[in-house]
Amino acid sequence: MVNNFAYAMPVKIEFGAGVSKKLFEITKNAGLMRGILICDKMFEANGTAAQIAKNTPSICGVYCEITPNPLLCEVEAAARLLREKRVDYVAALGGGSSLDLAKFACSLALSDRPAEEYFYKRAVFANRHIPLFAMPTTAGTGSEVTPVSVCNDQTTGIKAPLSHPNFYPHTALIDPELTLSVPSFVTATTGLDAMSHALEAIWSVNHQPICDALAAEALSSIFRHLEQAYDDGGNLEARTGMSYGALLAGLAFGQTKTAAVHACSYPFSSRFHLSHGEACAFTLDLFVRINAEAGRIDALSKKLGFENAEAMADRIFRLKKKFGLKTTLADIGSPDVRSLAEECVAHPLFQNNPVKLTVEELAAYFKAFL
Ligand code: ZN
Repeated sequence: MVNNFAYAMPVKIEFGAGVSKKLFEITKNAGLMRGILICDKMFEANGTAAQIAKNTPSICGVYCEITPNPLLCEVEAAARLLREKRVDYVAALGGGSSLDLAKFACSLALSDRPAEEYFYKRAVFANRHIPLFAMPTTAGTGSEVTPVSVCNDQTTGIKAPLSHPNFYPHTALIDPELTLSVPSFVTATTGLDAMSHALEAIWSVNHQPICDALAAEALSSIFRHLEQAYDDGGNLEARTGMSYGALLAGLAFGQTKTAAVHACSYPFSSRFHLSHGEACAFTLDLFVRINAEAGRIDALSKKLGFENAEAMADRIFRLKKKFGLKTTLADIGSPDVRSLAEECVAHPLFQNNPVKLTVEELAAYFKAFL
């Protein structure tokens, strides 16, 4: 029997090769006449930003001062520009960073308080923001359909996610053509991040039927296309399969939240300077093994064509090896396992894991498997 559940997601979705060219038409139909494009510097350098501005005559400026982990001072600078230019919409192009920065700036622009007050939750946004049109250029974060923005305080070095209903984009324009030039290593790490989102949505203690269905379809598409997209970046079919999988995974974990893999990813990325995707991939196959029964992953793995959860975990491990990712504690400098496990277990997302582990138990798993 299907249990009671709720599902709400306000973002309009435009999916398919070439949809980013419809930005002008879509914003115009929404009655919006003056926008700013927020994008990573790389897209200004390679001409993509200029191309989008050319196709979208209502764009009156470009903001591209964004570090890979967006800083609060950059959010402030973008918000100032939005106020100065008196825009009525924002388009964001890029991986997670430019989308995360744009989400925060679209609300901050209509506030007279500093970013820091919202980041540390001393202030709560009023229910108004500039509408955001999100165009992801990687198949991974799912940020285009979630209300979460991950930023860094440049003074304290603290990195944290901030979530608010204002942060949902107005429309996600998911154009696989934008991902064709993503380098193979980024394809690998962002793809494994999307795989982590789908698996964590299924084994999260908050899982529910719609998210289970979305995440299972996401995994089927990701397992089918990730290696192909890595081997041949110009393969539009593989890229489309990855964009589709990452989108469905985003639609799933946006409701359920993630669990132990993401909890562990924070200390792994901050201590050992791994990207978010590589940090998630580091413990992903381990948690497939740990959560096999309680997380219903054994049954899922059979539906996906694996013999069992162990076989699925082995496949993830082989992909990591092929992609040249770090897979052992020795690879990251043989850290003190106990203090690492302590920090992982203390992260709030760890509570969403279906198998409850003590610090000692997690440390023992790290020693035995990593
Ligand atoms: Zn993630």
